[in-house]
Amino acid sequence: MGRAEPRGLPGQGGAPTAQGAPFPVHAARPYSFVRRFICALLDWAEDPEEPASVEHVAGQMFTDPTSVRAFYEDTSYGKVTLTGNVFGWYTLASPKSPCSYDAWASAARARATAEGHDLSGYDHLIYAWPSTACPWAGFADQPGSTVYVDGVHSFGLDLRTVAHELGHNFGVGHANTLRCVDTSPAKG
Ligand SMILES: [Zn+2]
Repeated sequence: MGRAEPRGLPGQGGAPTAQGAPFPVHAARPYSFVRRFICALLDWAEDPEEPASVEHVAGQMFTDPTSVRAFYEDTSYGKVTLTGNVFGWYTLASPKSPCSYDAWASAARARATAEGHDLSGYDHLIYAWPSTACPWAGFADQPGSTVYVDGVHSFGLDLRTVAHELGHNFGVGHANTLRCVDTSPAKG
């Protein structure tokens, strides 16, 4: 079901529809999509800066009027919603440089599990930390379940970055490229 119908050009061949007839519209399918994610906040013993509170970031992710959840609910007309938790801060003993994002994520999972959190019930894990030498603002599996955000600020996380990278996890690529590494939060 649901193949794309070519529009053709006025007066040319294509589907033999009556002049002015509307193009076929596929009936809306019942659909809803709830994703659970954790945002884990990390910093380093050598530079233990925690510029935003867990509560503030939880508001940004889930409850503020401009939250990531609100963004997905608005843009999906309520079909997609997000729930979850924010954990941390987890202060890591490992060095802040080089950009060992995978090892940092592993350490954060170990800390969360040691605190008694069961991570198996979550669809996505977002790891976020204050700015480092990592050469990107956000990085994500496409599709997948992992997002890394380099840059927790005094205002919290850049929500454009979080929403953008979660989109990659959901399988959405850029409009004209399959790259999934971003060098700027403003990048499309
Ligand atoms: Zn991207």
